Amino acid sequence: MHELAITHSMFELVLEQAEKAGAKKVGKINLVIGEMTGFVKESVQFYFDLLSEGSLAEKATLSFTMVPPKARCRDCGETYELKEFKWTCPHCQGNDMEIIAGKELFVESIEVE
Ligand SMILES: [Zn+2]
Repeated sequence: MHELAITHSMFELVLEQAEKAGAKKVGKINLVIGEMTGFVKESVQFYFDLLSEGSLAEKATLSFTMVPPKARCRDCGETYELKEFKWTCPHCQGNDMEIIAGKELFVESIEVE
């Protein structure tokens, strides 16, 4: 995934919603980013500033909620946080798991004026 492409689609979504709401200005954008996406807040902010220049969303504040990676063990059903690449279940030591959080990336809400 590429930060510029993703930031661009996020930006378009924000504009669309702001226009629908009849907003004059976008004040704040609340984003949820999974830590496994590898996205760097500073890069998203950087691209966003570039893209939003001269638009409704110019100078909007980006607020990030980072989601730590989580997995569910397929053997015992335990849910646990994945830490430092230690990908074994703390309950049964199994390593057959599915990722249930940490890969998300979406606009949670926007605040308009
Ligand atoms: Zn387990």
